[in-house]
Amino acid sequence: MCAVCGCGKGEGRIEADAAKPDRAGNGQAAAGRDHGHSDHDHSHDRGHAHHHHHRDHDHDRHHDHGHGHDAGQSRIVQIEKDILGKNNAYAAANRARFNAAGILALNLVSSPGSGKTSLLVKTIEYLRGELPLAVIEGDQQTSTDADRIRAAGAPAIQINTGKGCHLDAHMVGHAAGHLKSAPGSVLFIENVGNLVCPALFDLGEAYRIVVLSVTEGEDKPLKYPDMFASSQLMLISKADLLPHLDFDVGRCLANALRINPNLQTLTVSARTGEGVAAFAAWIEANAAGYAAAVAQD
Ligand code: MG
Repeated sequence: MCAVCGCGKGEGRIEADAAKPDRAGNGQAAAGRDHGHSDHDHSHDRGHAHHHHHRDHDHDRHHDHGHGHDAGQSRIVQIEKDILGKNNAYAAANRARFNAAGILALNLVSSPGSGKTSLLVKTIEYLRGELPLAVIEGDQQTSTDADRIRAAGAPAIQINTGKGCHLDAHMVGHAAGHLKSAPGSVLFIENVGNLVCPALFDLGEAYRIVVLSVTEGEDKPLKYPDMFASSQLMLISKADLLPHLDFDVGRCLANALRINPNLQTLTVSARTGEGVAAFAAWIEANAAGYAAAVAQD
């Protein structure tokens, strides 16, 4: 569940769980139940808060309405803090685990349809054999994207979030446990397409990469500043379409840098392969730097 936008609770069902029969006492099933249970706790909290608020209205008509509303609001804010606090604890655990194994985790975020999966496929084809790669795919439904990644030659695991609009650190830790990425590998995490809620959820990644396609507006960084402020790299994707569009790359860069002066940027096209070598070089340079930093700890 995302308390911020109230978009409904995430089921966080990973395909390995879906594929296995739910045998009582089986470790996999227990792990799946744990996750469902924590979601249940969240929704129960929320229902509880709502119930109290509702009762104020029904049975206490003389109760000051403004006051009741404030209490409800602060309760919702507290639930939101609890959810993000829990997520941050899971993210810290993921980060410690990735650090210990020298796994470079990259969290890819964007609107739906920006071309994240196509770009990953091209990047995997380019880097395959150079260093070990693995992918966690987040979507509300289907395992289509994980299938495309596997066809490109990298191990992948799909997380279906159901109604959930973002991956959270608990889901990612669970999926990473199933993937068992090789030490020293790069783990791509393709988040659910959404520029709002995933900005709030640290997954334990080393870097956050925001993908913005040229079929979107140059003003996206201004409209969704949290996502661009919390990312380290922006990929301007579908660059092959630029001759057909009014999209102004310079203005897009200016907007993004106004939000985040430290943001690195690359222009890429999965169709023509433009910028894929540069993105691969960025990954290799950061993987090498990351491995050196981890070795020093
Ligand atoms: Mg995708």
